[in-house]
Amino acid sequence: METPKSNRFCCNFCVRAAKSIPVIFILCILSWSYYAYVYHLCINRITSIEVKVTYLIMYHVILFFFLWSYFKTIFTEPGGAPLKFRLSEEVFDDFNKNPINLPRQNAILRDFAENLPIMTFTNTNEHFFSDIRFCDKCRIVKPDRSHHCSVCRKCVLKMDHHCPWVNNCVSYTNYKYFILFLAYGLLMCIYVVATTGEYVAKFWDVTSNMRNQEEGKIHIVFLFFIAAMFSISVFSLFSYHIYLVSKNRTTLEAFRPPKFSEGSDKNGFNLGCCKNIQEVFGKEVILWPFPIRTSLGEGVKFPINKKIPEAQSLLYTDIECSEPSHTIFINDDVTNPAEINAQDLIQI
Ligand SMILES: [Zn+2]
Ligand SMILES: [Zn+2]
Repeated sequence: METPKSNRFCCNFCVRAAKSIPVIFILCILSWSYYAYVYHLCINRITSIEVKVTYLIMYHVILFFFLWSYFKTIFTEPGGAPLKFRLSEEVFDDFNKNPINLPRQNAILRDFAENLPIMTFTNTNEHFFSDIRFCDKCRIVKPDRSHHCSVCRKCVLKMDHHCPWVNNCVSYTNYKYFILFLAYGLLMCIYVVATTGEYVAKFWDVTSNMRNQEEGKIHIVFLFFIAAMFSISVFSLFSYHIYLVSKNRTTLEAFRPPKFSEGSDKNGFNLGCCKNIQEVFGKEVILWPFPIRTSLGEGVKFPINKKIPEAQSLLYTDIECSEPSHTIFINDDVTNPAEINAQDLIQI
C-alpha cells in the first residue's frame, strides 16, 4: 500500500513530466527535421559536393547556436530575491500577530523596506493597505520588476513571463538567452525554407527529373511547410520582444506599467534604445550573439528614466500611515500576461 509520501512523489513526478511535454515536442520536431534535412535533402538529394558541404556546415552552425541558446534558457535558474529582502521569522511573526491591525502591518513593512533599493509601489489604483510590494508566500519585500510565479513557486527577478516552451520563467537571468533562442530559431526556419524551396519547386515542375523521385520527397515537402509556418509565428514573437527590449519593458510591464512615486509609467525604465539594449545584451557587442551572461546589473536594482526624480524611493516619501482600507494587495502571482487581471486582492 502506497504511503502519502510516495503519492506525493508520484504526483510531483507526473506534474513535472506534464510540464516537459512542450519541450519534448520541440525536440521531437527538431530531431525529425534534422533527419529530413541532413539525410533526405543533403545526403540523398543534392548531387553537388560543394553545395552539399556548404548546406551541411551552415545548418549545423545555426543548429549549434539554437540548441545552446535553447538549453541555456531552459536550465538557467530564475533569479530570486537576495536574503536581505526576506522578512526574518520574528518580523514575519510580528507582521502576522495582528492581522487586522493594518496600520501596524503597514508600518512593519515600511520599516523593513527602509534600507532596500525599492523604487516601485504596488500597482493598485484605488484603496490599498500598503504600497510596499510584498509577497506573503515568499515572505519577501519584492525587488523592483520581480513578480511571484505560481508555476516556479517563487518571486522571480525581472520576470517577463513563464514560458511553457522552455518550461522555465523567462526573467532577468535568461532573458538574453530567450531572445537568442528566438533569433536562432527564426534564422534556422528561414534557412531551411530558403534551401529546401528550390527542391520543393522541382517536385512540381513537369520538366524536372525530380518529379518522379519519390524517396524522401514527403519529408522535404513537409519540412518546407513546417519551417515556413514556424518562421511566421517565431517572427511575430521575436519582433515583439525586440520592441520590448528597445523600450526596456517586460511583457508584464507592457500589460501593467510599474508604479513610481509619481504614478504608473510604462517608460519608467526606458533609458533610450541603445542603453536599453545594453541592459539585456551588455556593453560588449562582440558577445551579443553568444548565450553567455552579459546583462548589466544583478537583477535587483535598475536605473530609471531621468524624468523621474532621483529621490523617489519609498525611503524618502512621507511614511505617515495612510488611511487603512479594506483591501490588501499582497499576492502578485503572475504566470502569464493574460492572468494579470486576475491577481489576488485579499479582502479583509
Ligand atoms: Zn513570492
Ligand atoms: Zn515561472
